[in-house]
Amino acid sequence: MVKFFQPYELPVCEYCHEEWSWRVSIKKMFTLNRAMSCPSCGKEQYQTRKSRIRMSQLVLLSNLVLLINAFFDFYWWEIVLMYVAIIVTGFILMPYNLKLQNDEDLNLW
Ligand SMILES: [Zn+2]
Repeated sequence: MVKFFQPYELPVCEYCHEEWSWRVSIKKMFTLNRAMSCPSCGKEQYQTRKSRIRMSQLVLLSNLVLLINAFFDFYWWEIVLMYVAIIVTGFILMPYNLKLQNDEDLNLW
């Protein structure tokens, strides 16, 4: 599970090698455009394939809560609390999973 969150580094622009701040990374990730322009050099950056896979694993991980629920008797609010905790943690960790490259990866997976 630990490998999903590694490396614990903020994304670095492949062009100018400038590190993106947590806030910038979140903002760029939530724009619908796949191309993310670097705040320091303005070049377009794309998320790497590996980094996209890691993010989808993070989403899958959140569904483990439902699986756990099948084995234990939780109250509904305990499930809600777990979900909120996982979503918040996932959100905080998202920029650390973002890896950038200069070219767009045209293969989806
Ligand atoms: Zn840059």
